[in-house]
Amino acid sequence: MEIYCDNAATTALDPEVIEAILPFFTATFGNPSSTHWAGRKVKDAVDDARKTVAKVLNASAEEIYFTSGATEAINLAISGAIETYDINHVVTSKIEHKAVLQTILQREKAGDIETSFVKLDERGNVDLYHLENLLRANPQTLICLMHGNNEIGNLTDIHAINKLAQRYDSIFFTDTTQTIGKQWFDLSQTTIDFLVGSAHKFHGPKGAGFIYINKKHRIKAQIFGGGQEKGQRGGTENVTGIVGLAKALEVAYRDLEANHNKICKLKQYMVSKLAISGVHGICYNGESHSLENSLVNILNVSFPCLAAGSLVKSLDNLGIAVSGGSACSSQGSSHVITALPCQKDKENIRFSFSKVNTFDEIDHIVRAIVGIYHTDPVAHNSYSRFHYELAN
Ligand code: PLP
Repeated sequence: MEIYCDNAATTALDPEVIEAILPFFTATFGNPSSTHWAGRKVKDAVDDARKTVAKVLNASAEEIYFTSGATEAINLAISGAIETYDINHVVTSKIEHKAVLQTILQREKAGDIETSFVKLDERGNVDLYHLENLLRANPQTLICLMHGNNEIGNLTDIHAINKLAQRYDSIFFTDTTQTIGKQWFDLSQTTIDFLVGSAHKFHGPKGAGFIYINKKHRIKAQIFGGGQEKGQRGGTENVTGIVGLAKALEVAYRDLEANHNKICKLKQYMVSKLAISGVHGICYNGESHSLENSLVNILNVSFPCLAAGSLVKSLDNLGIAVSGGSACSSQGSSHVITALPCQKDKENIRFSFSKVNTFDEIDHIVRAIVGIYHTDPVAHNSYSRFHYELAN
């Protein structure tokens, strides 16, 4: 039996998405920049996809630009804003995705900016007072703070941050890769400057994403070419990816409530099963245990009696795919967990669910963990050590 419980890394393609993109692999193959009938047909499909994305997010179609994924969109938002507005100060946090942290680091190494890291509380939540102090000291900052954390699931109050951005004449980019398709957005009601999405996180194809650029901006492109995407991003459009992205997003918002409720129940079920599993010392990282303050699809767990690295491998040997952190940081310990203050146990496992997971699969995963715990000689030694440490 194979179980996939790593949906924050990527998700399975939705059958409705496959159906929508198939014609663009066969009969409808033109280049959207061609002016003849074959090009026009495909250009119409790309335009329709842009309108669909704009409609579900309540943005305007002119504010949506397609990219190869969230990483590229993030690079465009950060570097584009820095270059366009001569920004010399960026505020971010140590638990952002590497696409954000590495882009900022490169700009810092090039001498373009200075970086400040906002303080986080022990569960990884942004300290808004500290953020305000940083902005007061450095107005006209670029703020790069994510909406939903891909490892511990923490949700950030992006509207509160946006108010601070406005108060201190700053620009706000939020990495919404994990929340697009899972949370409602009404972009007509916010002045957030940039946000991003990636189709493969919401049952669309890999290699397709978008950036929302608030209509008050036009930023310097980072990929130059034939002037596609109104000059914001050169390169022939990934038509199947774009059509698939729009269909996946449409389906995600059509079914959002039902999927949210189902996934909430899966998470609660797993927590209740782990509580009676007999595996000692289980604790939850960040806010992932909470249904309100965290993405409902992410549960980040420490098993102090089991080495997380070997638990991921043992589960994999049993056909269960989970992750020790994010897929991109699967080597070495997680920079997110390491950045959490007071985090005693640095090893962690991320279970991440989607609409296709079932309660039977959760039963199977918990049974597998219990089996590994009982057969692992180290677990019992650790159990005694764990209680010894607690008692002392
Ligand atoms: N930002 C976050 C929060 C993510 O979870 C990911 C993917 O794991 C990315 C950015 C990068 O997305 P992509 O795979 O589309 O480049």
